[in-house]
Amino acid sequence: DEMVSASIERLRQNAERRSMQLIMEPAEQPLMILADAEAFEEILDNLLDNALKYTNTGGKITVRWRPEGHWCHLEVEDTGIGIPQNHLPRIFERFYRVDRARSRELGGTGLGLSIVKHLVQQLDGTISVVSKLGKGTIFTIRFKLADAPQVLRGNTLTA
Ligand code: ATP
Ligand code: MG
Repeated sequence: DEMVSASIERLRQNAERRSMQLIMEPAEQPLMILADAEAFEEILDNLLDNALKYTNTGGKITVRWRPEGHWCHLEVEDTGIGIPQNHLPRIFERFYRVDRARSRELGGTGLGLSIVKHLVQQLDGTISVVSKLGKGTIFTIRFKLADAPQVLRGNTLTA
């Protein structure tokens, strides 16, 4: 919870400048996953950066997370421009941009999502996306929850 909040707070000013709502819907209980902190931060920052970049002034970004069985589901939803269905299978490729002109204007290189996918896989997680053109996009990442009794000392995980 702390890490997600920190990522969101870094964007708050930028969002307010563009009259955008930034909403957080945390799980009822704080959730723990076993992951490299820097990698997790990089994943979140990239998804939030996209949500902000590809959503027009006045839009809304919602970040919610909840437990589902042994998994933590985290969604980043925006009310932005959306991604056409035929582009969806390719957005995780390196340098792939749906609208080159728009992305370039915003300073994008098309690397963000390929890095995100790579990091999610390294953390044994999954990522999926649902999008509706002109309505918005939801990226969902899923990580295994760390059970409370697990203890990590050095390289050794005791369950
Ligand atoms: P970079 O992340 O390197 O700054 P980028 O944002 O263009 O550049 P990616 O993050 O890899 O690259 O995203 C690839 C493409 O997917 C984007 O260019 C954009 O067309 C589309 N895209 C990604 N996220 C969203 C979103 N939330 N809404 C609409 N389109 C998106
Ligand atoms: Mg990006």
